[in-house]
Amino acid sequence: LPEQEAFDIEYWLLEEAKLQRMPKPKSLAGRVAIVTGGAGGIGSATAARYLSEGACVMLADIDPDALEATREQLAGKFGKDMVRTVSMDVTSEDAVISAYGELAVEFGGVDLVVSNAGIASSAKIEDTTMELWNRNQSILSTGYFLVAREAFKLLKQQGIGGSMVFVASKNGLAASPGASAYCTAKASEIHLARCLALEGAPDGIRVNVVNPDAVLRGSRIWTGEWLDQRASTYDLDKEGLEEMYRQRSLLKRSVLPEDVAEACYFFAAEVSAKSTGNIINVDAGNIQSFTR
Ligand code: NAD
Repeated sequence: LPEQEAFDIEYWLLEEAKLQRMPKPKSLAGRVAIVTGGAGGIGSATAARYLSEGACVMLADIDPDALEATREQLAGKFGKDMVRTVSMDVTSEDAVISAYGELAVEFGGVDLVVSNAGIASSAKIEDTTMELWNRNQSILSTGYFLVAREAFKLLKQQGIGGSMVFVASKNGLAASPGASAYCTAKASEIHLARCLALEGAPDGIRVNVVNPDAVLRGSRIWTGEWLDQRASTYDLDKEGLEEMYRQRSLLKRSVLPEDVAEACYFFAAEVSAKSTGNIINVDAGNIQSFTR
């Protein structure tokens, strides 16, 4: 008998070793995703993460050149049949409707939605023009509404549930100096997501939120007007700002697009099947969260 036991153990160990060598099944295989702002830092990192798990991805963005560059890069890595693009302004009702039409034609439907297209543009309240206020409202608040409304129509028609992730911002929860237009629009995205979690649950549609803190590297937001505005608010250059954000985090680490992508992946994957209306802050432990 001890011999038999030794044999069993050896056999079991061999089977384990074989299992470990077998390629792991891809967790999003057969799924179709749309990522708005897919040509940007967080959007392209999220698309890459979904692709790495076997999903097909439609990149939607207002910037056709950046869209093509991102498509080329991702298609080179994951295969050209896995990635499509659609040029779309999230503030245009017609453009959003036709993007979902294209998605249905190209990939036969949708399972995963990442609403992420955005800008960062703000000012002190006395310098906030109607144009600036409305730009934040239309791209962030209204843009997320349109992307979600059309997704809901398609997801309900398909009848097999789905997962939607809103990339909002820590600024949708925590106030930031000189950024009321942006903060307010981001807060509305978060509340919209929670309302939609209620509405979507009976149809198996989950809606969750990922709130990044400042992501300076890889993001196109941190160039031009927003960078100048933040730099003058804090009297720091880009490196100084990144250091300030790093220092105010408990973990003393900068947040990267890939970190945000990982949280977006969590909400898309089966492991989060019991999560809806929830928020993950990707902020390396921003101390503001502990003093609110
Ligand atoms: P990014 O500028 O690199 O990417 C944003 C993308 O959205 C760009 O490719 C841009 O062309 C696209 N876009 C802008 N307006 C659009 C419109 N009207 N229609 C369609 N596409 C449009 O910036 P990012 O850092 O990747 O930001 C992604 C999201 O994350 C945004 O919603 C942003 O507010 C949010 N966020 C960013 C940070 C950060 O520090 N980078 C922090 C918190 C939240």
